[in-house]
Amino acid sequence: PDLPTLDALVAGCRACPRLVAWREEVAATKRAAFRDETYWGRPVPGFGATDAQLLIVGLAPAAHGANRTGRMFTGDRSGDVLYAALHAVGLASQPTAVAVGDGLELYGTRITAPVRCAPPENRPTPAERDRCRPWLARELALLRGTVRSVVVLGGFGWQALLPVLATPDPAGGHPGWVVPRPRPTFGHAVHVTLAPADEHAPTSAAPLELFGSYHVSQQNTFTGRLTPAMLEDVLTDAARAAGL
Ligand code: SF4
Repeated sequence: PDLPTLDALVAGCRACPRLVAWREEVAATKRAAFRDETYWGRPVPGFGATDAQLLIVGLAPAAHGANRTGRMFTGDRSGDVLYAALHAVGLASQPTAVAVGDGLELYGTRITAPVRCAPPENRPTPAERDRCRPWLARELALLRGTVRSVVVLGGFGWQALLPVLATPDPAGGHPGWVVPRPRPTFGHAVHVTLAPADEHAPTSAAPLELFGSYHVSQQNTFTGRLTPAMLEDVLTDAARAAGL
């Protein structure tokens, strides 16, 4: 399928019983501030350009953020920080993300996550992460002709993404990139260049530039562990590496 088809398919996934129950319970009970809204309450597809050169990989939707609005990082404090930074470096049309239909556009950039359903405590289990992996793999395979650079927000996304980069297409249509052993360690501003696994394959002849950033969670942004300037620096480097 193409990316819009994949997005529609992922939104119908019910493979993880614990997460299906949680996302729907949150959607039914709501937070008081949003009691007049209809929550999305389903898996959240990737958001942004379908021919993205830069891919941003988070963790999982927030219960009252993307699980409410149906769009990645939209409607919560983490998203406020991320979209402000994306706008500051020229990758987003506006600094705020409120809801689908708010006019937000990303330039050459797509945002996705290794787990598509809001998990309790923001903590998916390893089994849930592994079950969701094929969605990310298929998304990456569909971006293979354009994606040059990836920013991973947080260690969970880093651990989840590396195996996908090594084998983005289980059917063998895309050979992926060479992930060194031992695997590169996550850290803020870590930058690793991954060579294409098959340099003769026309669809993946370019290396992939992989960047790490601390996650935009309130835990990190309220404490100053991640400042807007730190995030903007990583995004600027990644955008440059992607040719944006
Ligand atoms: Fe499906 Fe992923 Fe949601 Fe599990 S986390 S139900 S695999 S979309």
